[in-house]
Amino acid sequence: MFQSQLSVLVAGLFGLQMAVVFAILQRTPGMGRAGLRSWAAGEVLVAAAAGSLAARESLPDGLSLNLAGLLMTAALSLMVYGTRRFFGRRGGAGMLCLLNAVVLGGTAYLDWAGAPAGSQVLVFALARIYLPLALLRIVAPQVPATRGTGRLAALSLGLIALACAATGAWQAAGLTVAPIHLATQVPQEAFTILHAFGIVSLSVSFALMAHDSVRRRLEHRASYDDLTDVLSRGAYWAALEAACKQAERQKRLLTVAFIDLDHFKAINDLYGHLAGDSVLRHFSGLLRKSVRAGDIVGRIGGEEFAIAMPNTTLEQGRAIGMRLNTLVRTTACPSEPDAIPYTVSIGMAERLPGEGADALMRRADDALYDAKNMGRNCVSTQPVDRLADMTRPVRMHVSRAS
Ligand code: GH3
Ligand code: MG
Ligand code: MG
Repeated sequence: MFQSQLSVLVAGLFGLQMAVVFAILQRTPGMGRAGLRSWAAGEVLVAAAAGSLAARESLPDGLSLNLAGLLMTAALSLMVYGTRRFFGRRGGAGMLCLLNAVVLGGTAYLDWAGAPAGSQVLVFALARIYLPLALLRIVAPQVPATRGTGRLAALSLGLIALACAATGAWQAAGLTVAPIHLATQVPQEAFTILHAFGIVSLSVSFALMAHDSVRRRLEHRASYDDLTDVLSRGAYWAALEAACKQAERQKRLLTVAFIDLDHFKAINDLYGHLAGDSVLRHFSGLLRKSVRAGDIVGRIGGEEFAIAMPNTTLEQGRAIGMRLNTLVRTTACPSEPDAIPYTVSIGMAERLPGEGADALMRRADDALYDAKNMGRNCVSTQPVDRLADMTRPVRMHVSRAS
């Protein structure tokens, strides 16, 4: 008896500790996720349930088990609701409230009608099958979208939810199918203690999932430009440095495109700064559509963007640049009352052996300067022999889509 009281208190303390974990997670900058408060409240209810079980000798017969059952049903319901909110799903509260009302009303009625002691426990056992499976249904569709530790946490949560539902089914079967055999083998308190530990283990997995999701969001925010959702200048530069080193090591090609929106200041002056922002967002959408997997896209600053294309010759890069140039020219940015037409100029350069990110981007910038000089809305390549071959007309390097 003493041992079971001790283990139930351990589960309760564990629950309280998890409530603190959720409160801390909820205050983490960037978390911005609803649902964690429900998990924290659920943990407090688990601790209260553990307290009522530990104090069962001082409570009237059967009350402690029923109270613990009700509290744990409410705790798990709060967690299911919190998980829905965490993944941005609305609703579900009415259904969970109804379930708790049915469990409360059902046990009160059975008590009043003088039903055998096992019947109330059966009501809790059925809720213990349903609620972990409801949790599993919300988390399972998220698994493909998670990676690394987040996926591991989601999988462990799924397994624990299945184990919780299985113990609920075992308890229900013990009370209905083979009452004497199973129910006498495992006391009902043991099921409740097991369930308390199950709920707290679910919480650990969920806290890890939540932590992983906030870490990913903060990492994204640190590397990506808020307005255009392409790499920010620093992250682009770091990725380009790494791509240059890899190209050098593996003796592979690397071509970069330096892109600048034409007369962007005039767009701001004519349509306003907010419309200018929409144009930048619109362009980054076209940019992301035009590149291939493995290409590195960044916003270098203001209305300047860049693409680094590994394993790409200057000619292939120019074809990509031409396609982008045409796409931009033929796709005005939707706006009220009229769509905003705009164009881009693109300078391209292919990496020379031994060349690093700075020198490569400088040559692409030179080519961009050529494109601007040629009247904008075009793609200019600066051949590697350009400086040596000064006699070659500049127009040779400029492509303008018809
Ligand atoms: P060019 O064709 O020679 O590139 O001319 P331009 O007007 O595009 O170039 P310029 O460098 O003269 O002007 C760039 C403008 O981009 C000036 C600046 O106010 C605007 N700009 C920079 N960042 C942002 C931004 O985040 N949002 C908006 N709306 N405008 C920006
Ligand atoms: Mg510029
Ligand atoms: Mg410009």
